[in-house]
Amino acid sequence: TVMTKADILQVLREQEVRFLRLQFTDILGVNKNVELPASQFEKALDGEVMFDGSTIEGFTRSEEADMLLKPDYSTFLVFPEELESSHQGRVARLICDIAYPDGRPFEGDPRQILKAQLERLRKMGFDDLYAGPEPEFFLFTRTPEGDPSIITHDRAGYFDLAPLDKGEEARREMVNVLVQMGFEIEASHHEVAPGQHEIDFKYSGALRTADNITTFKFVVKKVALKYGLHATFMPKPIAGINGSGLHMHLSLFKNGENAFYDPEGDNKLSKIALYFIQGLLEHAEGMVAITNPLVNSYKRLTPGYEAPTSIAWSDSNRSAMIRVPARRGIGTRAEFRAPDPSCNPYLALAVILAAGLDGIEKKELPPPPIERNIYQLSVRDRRKHKVSELPGTLREALEALQKDEVIRGALGDHLYKQFLRAKQIEWNSYRSAVHQWELDQYLAEY
Ligand code: GLN
Ligand code: MG
Ligand code: MG
Ligand code: MG
Repeated sequence: TVMTKADILQVLREQEVRFLRLQFTDILGVNKNVELPASQFEKALDGEVMFDGSTIEGFTRSEEADMLLKPDYSTFLVFPEELESSHQGRVARLICDIAYPDGRPFEGDPRQILKAQLERLRKMGFDDLYAGPEPEFFLFTRTPEGDPSIITHDRAGYFDLAPLDKGEEARREMVNVLVQMGFEIEASHHEVAPGQHEIDFKYSGALRTADNITTFKFVVKKVALKYGLHATFMPKPIAGINGSGLHMHLSLFKNGENAFYDPEGDNKLSKIALYFIQGLLEHAEGMVAITNPLVNSYKRLTPGYEAPTSIAWSDSNRSAMIRVPARRGIGTRAEFRAPDPSCNPYLALAVILAAGLDGIEKKELPPPPIERNIYQLSVRDRRKHKVSELPGTLREALEALQKDEVIRGALGDHLYKQFLRAKQIEWNSYRSAVHQWELDQYLAEY
């Protein structure tokens, strides 16, 4: 049951909430918010709060600067005191859609782009896309001035007599805060690399999962700060060790049942599951610019670090871009391992859905799954299994995006153009910079 305006006002009063954050995510996936004092609560709930869209990068042209924030009541929550404690009172939040002053939905709003794909999915007879994310991140120490370093707490604690691991402590508090905020945490653990962690929360419908991912990032960063640490979702902060992924476990439901499961099917997978997988394979090149949007994202997608480099699927092998975990029945799902946590989760799930639904519409089966370590396939085997490579740089990814009508269509013209422009600027700035690697290699030698 969704709360009404009156319910929310009552909670705000009872819990003595002093500030309400109206949250949204910009095109580049950065959390934004407008914070309002109690006198504005009613106006906020009525969706009458305006903000200046021109101040948000990639959002809007200046002539259409004023935008309305339309709150989604189902996202209402009061932040736990550990997270937002202040003698000035408690803080609550609502996640918002963005509209023009006349109420029309704004085409540059990532949340509504995901909603449009979900609408399409419902028209095709499905209930929802369920998505279970596995966000990974690093915890680094801060310099005495408070700037983030790339020194992990693990190494810092290595010689300590009483092993006081600030990272583990911080992670425990992250989990506590998330649980209080209604998250169902399934697992939390140290990851492969020093200083690297993962906290998995339960799958939900795609929209809720995207909301959860933005909330999750906010909580993780905030708690880390409290422990004097810096949490980063940068995909590959350190060369030579694992980067951070955002694997997505995906399944479609129809009439309350998992449409990926078919006890009679090959490997107990339904045709729907196979078509969906084929859609992901077919559009992988075109969508990685969205699921892996940074110059740095492509440093993660290199062989040997459990991140995919080839466009292939597998029943079990973790070098594949798509893996189908052993679970069947209600838990049947495909794990898409390409995305990294720097992506805008709304856009990432929107393009994943667009790709999968295109597969279902085209009814094309994928090539047979590959059960070997894909990093070690020979050129001949790759040809035989029709395995091609993911784009190796952001530039290649942007070129592939420009060629993919389905992915572009899902983003819509406005957002596509803004995204492409912002990312081309990013690439050009990277391309013309002189990096430490070049100095190390060339300065003395030439
Ligand atoms: N860190 C790996 C990645 O970049 C995943 C490691 C794992 O969860 N097995 O995707
Ligand atoms: Mg995991
Ligand atoms: Mg992991
Ligand atoms: Mg995984």
